Amino acid sequence: MTVAFLGLGAIGAPMARRVAARERELRVWNRTRARAEALARELDVHAADTPADAARGATVVITCLPTSNELQALLDGGLESALEPGAVVVDCTSGSPEATRAIAARLAARGVGFVDAPVSGGVSGAEQGTLTVMCGGDASTVDRVRPVLESFGRKIVHVGPVGAGMAVKAVNNILLAAHVWTLGEGLALLARSGVPASTALDVINASSGRSNSSQNLFPERVVGRAFPRTFRLALLDKDAATAAAALRDARVPSPLLQLTAELMRLAHVALGEEADHVEAVKVIEEWAGVRIG
Ligand code: NDP
Repeated sequence: MTVAFLGLGAIGAPMARRVAARERELRVWNRTRARAEALARELDVHAADTPADAARGATVVITCLPTSNELQALLDGGLESALEPGAVVVDCTSGSPEATRAIAARLAARGVGFVDAPVSGGVSGAEQGTLTVMCGGDASTVDRVRPVLESFGRKIVHVGPVGAGMAVKAVNNILLAAHVWTLGEGLALLARSGVPASTALDVINASSGRSNSSQNLFPERVVGRAFPRTFRLALLDKDAATAAAALRDARVPSPLLQLTAELMRLAHVALGEEADHVEAVKVIEEWAGVRIG
């Protein structure tokens, strides 16, 4: 397959590296051109001048952008007219289910296929090719692009029609947000009670309150005070807002998840665009007047 990869950010770049290891024909594009050029040199692939140049003649066009809005803007800016009938756009952005359905319909009118394929597993999962990929689209289109998805994904699940992948991803990520926040509040109490966070996590991780946050995120990032910027809080805020809006639209009573989305917005505003998602606990620490870890 000839693959174009658009969006070489924190997770897009390691995903593109995995694609390059498997597919002979890869073109990369990034808004900040220097990043595309550096990766293209490293991988010995072509750095395209524009998204349209990358996509022309490609059978699969992978996008990994902040939100669905950026994909819409790229399509409007010339990408759509460069896509050839029979090509498939695979959107690995964590996007909006509603916007995704509109994008897929727009592409279908030109004979271009679409799969929403957001991922989970973080930057390390992308580096190791162990991401979980949740796919929305026709089964036959998902099957066509599965070999490319397998270059960075270990668990690839067709979850439903177009938009369903984005919906599953939004729910997954609002759960991540709730886990980070609730664990932060609980550990703040335990810090006040004189229980070190490392001791509390040792117990919780052998008990029923454990989560990916308690097992994999807090030991290094909160106890160790190393906050590597692998997944921006701004992006988790966006995902939580997507899930909260979908819950409201579907009239599913969701007081805890609505509040979770509000807390993510508050933490994002307080800590800025570059903070990592786990740094949200710094807001809890400030409110509680304790340092966890
Ligand atoms: P980053 O913020 O690291 O990178 C964003 C990418 O989008 C960069 O390539 C950036 O280009 C590009 N971009 C930003 N704005 C525009 C624009 N207006 N037009 C074109 N390109 C633009 O994000 P991540 O790589 O972390 O995330 C990408 C997607 O993957 C998001 O939807 C995120 O929620 C999701 N995701 C991220 C995970 C992670 O662990 N990081 C895990 C799972 C999903 P430039 O280099 O010019 O800034």
